[in-house]
Amino acid sequence: MNCYICQNSTEPDTTWATLLVTKTRPICEDCEQLLPTISGPSCPICMRPSPQAKKCPDCHKWSEHFTVDPLKRNISLYRYTPEMKAIISRFKYRGDYEIIHAFETAIQSTYKTHFNDQPTTIPIPLHPVRQQQRLFNQAEAIAQKLIQPYHTNILTRQDNTKQSKKSRYERITSLNPFTVTKQPPEKILLIDDIYTTGTTLRQAADLLIKHGAKSVESFTLIRS
Ligand SMILES: [Zn+2]
Ligand SMILES: [Zn+2]
Repeated sequence: MNCYICQNSTEPDTTWATLLVTKTRPICEDCEQLLPTISGPSCPICMRPSPQAKKCPDCHKWSEHFTVDPLKRNISLYRYTPEMKAIISRFKYRGDYEIIHAFETAIQSTYKTHFNDQPTTIPIPLHPVRQQQRLFNQAEAIAQKLIQPYHTNILTRQDNTKQSKKSRYERITSLNPFTVTKQPPEKILLIDDIYTTGTTLRQAADLLIKHGAKSVESFTLIRS
């Protein structure tokens, strides 16, 4: 089979030993080396690298803004290196859906490690116009890799492109692009491709909590 990232063959040179252990690999060894898995001490809320695993300044600000941060914690798989940026832009903007298969094993094992209490999975919805442009929702593609089902009928997104003169924090709460269309379950896991400022995830989490959810966590492929 061919590597989902570089298209080169992932078959090792055939020897008696490899014939006995025939295991197909979704990515070649070279690409596997390039994938920057997150390691080392990080913020316990958002997974940003942080000495002594202390809560980062941004997460302190979120707690001040909301009194209680609506996002309990975020788990990410990879760092946003130039290599990762190139891979993800193929996936996100050029419709290369197949790339997601490269991350399948890592997504599933990370999910099992951190979310074994079976929260209800909700991929962050794309605005319908954007979804048409991009052919698929990348957050949903990630959610499809989890063995359990995911839900797209609890959280929806409407058009919200109007600019506002309000402050950044006012914008976050007043211009929430999401709508909760159904009573949310108590434990929720939001899925998205990338955690940058954490604004989108908190807008969704805040609304879900206001509608009765008790705990909202997130799983993102990348922590930028
Ligand atoms: Zn490769
Ligand atoms: Zn943080």
